[in-house]
Amino acid sequence: MRIGIYGGTFDPIHLGHMCAAQYAAELLHLDRLYLIPAGLPPHKHLADSTPAPEHRLHMTELAADALSRTECPVEVWGEELRQEGKSYTVNTLRAFRERYPEEELWLLMGTDMFLTLHQWREPGRILELAGVCAFGRTEADGEAVFAPQREFLRKTYQGARIATITVPGLADVSSTRLRELLARGEGRDFLPEAVYGYILREKLYGTHADLKRLGLDEL
Ligand code: ATP
Repeated sequence: MRIGIYGGTFDPIHLGHMCAAQYAAELLHLDRLYLIPAGLPPHKHLADSTPAPEHRLHMTELAADALSRTECPVEVWGEELRQEGKSYTVNTLRAFRERYPEEELWLLMGTDMFLTLHQWREPGRILELAGVCAFGRTEADGEAVFAPQREFLRKTYQGARIATITVPGLADVSSTRLRELLARGEGRDFLPEAVYGYILREKLYGTHADLKRLGLDEL
């Protein structure tokens, strides 16, 4: 069995994440893909206004529901949110290896994460435990960006399995930009409907919609 592991702050999860996840799952022939909302990401500071972990988990579950309707074999793994301290990928991979001793693991990530992979905690161990599949976040992220890092990682960590892919029709958006858009009543186009509706209902990210005016699809 091939298992994909796709972690992120998912604050909130958006169509960019989903589009990449769906395409990578297809291309790698994944039998299962776990979306993993990070508790405390090691590489960034979460703003005080970041919704509670339960909200990020719930939004990720709603996105997974939407993805599973496209036949993507997706599940959500909420363990990182329950752990104390920072969420290190190497620890999550160890937990997966224990649970799935025989299966092939693939770690999915966008350009920004791929380019800093050698600076994460225990990069050599990460690359022993899983293959890495990296995808561009914007149209500009092509071979010129990926190739040097791919070669560097392969040379530095013998036996590393690395795939770099181009996602067709990717959604060029970040959660940071989306949080700004949501606060001024925009951003709907970058979110699955159920996640957008949840954000409005829970008044997350500075939204203050009049719920009576919303359509059924948003509620
Ligand atoms: P923020 O703007 O808050 O830093 P983000 O949009 O980068 O958030 P994360 O949850 O930190 O989202 O990202 C999780 C993973 O998804 C990372 O590997 C990141 O590179 C990747 N990713 C984020 N946005 C996109 C996108 N639009 N297309 C493809 N991959 C993406």
